[in-house]
Amino acid sequence: MGRKRCIIPWALPFGARKAALCFALAALAGLAAWLLLRGSGGIPGPGKELTAAAEGLTDYRVELRLLPEENALAISETIRFRNGTGDSLDHLVLRTWLNAFQSGEKSPAALEEVYSACYPEGFSPGGLTVYNVTWNGQAANHEFVNSDETALKIAIPALSPGESGMLFFRCLARIPHCAYRTGYADGCWQMGNALPLLSVYRDGAWRTDEYSPIGDPFLSECANFHVTLEAPEGYVPACSAALTWEKDGLWHGDLPAARDLALCVYERAAVAKGKAGNTLILAYAADSGEASRALENAKKALETFSALYGEYPYPTLSVCKADFPFSGMEYPALCMIGKGQYSAEKSDSLELTVAHETAHQWFYALVGSDQVLAPWQDEAICEYAMLRYVQKRYGQGSFEALKYYRVDAPMMENVPGSLTPGSPISYYNNYQDYRTVVYGRGAALLLALDDFLPGGADAFLKAYVKEFAFQFVTRKQFEDFLNAYSGMDASPLLLDYLDTEM
Ligand SMILES: [Zn+2]
Repeated sequence: MGRKRCIIPWALPFGARKAALCFALAALAGLAAWLLLRGSGGIPGPGKELTAAAEGLTDYRVELRLLPEENALAISETIRFRNGTGDSLDHLVLRTWLNAFQSGEKSPAALEEVYSACYPEGFSPGGLTVYNVTWNGQAANHEFVNSDETALKIAIPALSPGESGMLFFRCLARIPHCAYRTGYADGCWQMGNALPLLSVYRDGAWRTDEYSPIGDPFLSECANFHVTLEAPEGYVPACSAALTWEKDGLWHGDLPAARDLALCVYERAAVAKGKAGNTLILAYAADSGEASRALENAKKALETFSALYGEYPYPTLSVCKADFPFSGMEYPALCMIGKGQYSAEKSDSLELTVAHETAHQWFYALVGSDQVLAPWQDEAICEYAMLRYVQKRYGQGSFEALKYYRVDAPMMENVPGSLTPGSPISYYNNYQDYRTVVYGRGAALLLALDDFLPGGADAFLKAYVKEFAFQFVTRKQFEDFLNAYSGMDASPLLLDYLDTEM
């Protein structure tokens, strides 16, 4: 299934010979990558911290089958859920984000600014068909409760606090032809937010936020993932849970205490492997040169941030070249890096993007925050962390030069006055304003905190990660912790940088 025919180069005219030779070399590189990945060699086991964090969490058993001819991913999920909300529940909410891609009017990739880059061949629909939904073996009624059908309410018999149950469903995910975080593009099945996950329950209700085009509107709790994947022979899969090929003909992987699971499945890819401390880094790209460059950058970023903010806990980190008009996208133990970042003239850009996305492993993956209502809480901190990376690696001059472009210039830029870094993502209608305000002006808060706190912002962020790793932290919790940590009232400073119109 899906195997490429081998063409003999010397039986063809010169132009075709050259093309066939390139094709054959690429196929060989892909085969080498596939063979390299098939062995489980080198994948470290989970450390003590991760094993302890995994205890008592919701458990996902996920079976996946990639069906390239049908542009689809068949998904079956068994979720063991323990009611840790403190309330008695009569329903659960499952996030079915892929449904946002059903129509050209609502698709997050259809924003005018990026439409032609995301849909170069015109609009292509995606979505999920969910069936066989059961709770503890009994059929469960279900219905969508928001307008883009990304929140599926599932009725269950009353579940008291502390009680557990088993949710099962199957679904067919239709993957759009779309250069986006979810979509098939340039020979790769990019599958971020393709798996349905339980929503987060806050203040007496499940969150049902719509999938807005700006920002990363995904909220989820840490859980334990066990995954199997069936893919055509020769395809190269990258996953948040590092996969190994087993005798049953499937790829298998586990990822404890993670808030999502993403995959990129390549028809062909080159893979570079290396270690940073106990972590195995896997970089996937079109050729070995690109993969090696991404690997080296990820290694430096992982080492720098582990020293600044505490040890990276996951056994692997996968860095995946992706076809989309963005710089990058973060998932637990996996980041997608936009293909535009790999051009030789943009070597700084690749390094900075890898640093920013790797910082998200601490600020999003480990310490979760409200990416819908308080996007600064991961984006601004990651932008600041990226600046600190540059300062540590390349010195004060490089730091100052980059700070000018990434923070000082955004402070002077003209954007609508009502937008402040503390605004929710729904206030934004273009990427430019979002980047300027949330990333640039938001990072200014962290630089101010660096001056405000006697031990600097990094020591605070390290303590923040230690306190809240594997949890989901609101702005108020951030503020309370900052006040307690510093013994001062930092609230006026936060108000000034996050909520004051310029
Ligand atoms: Zn980011």
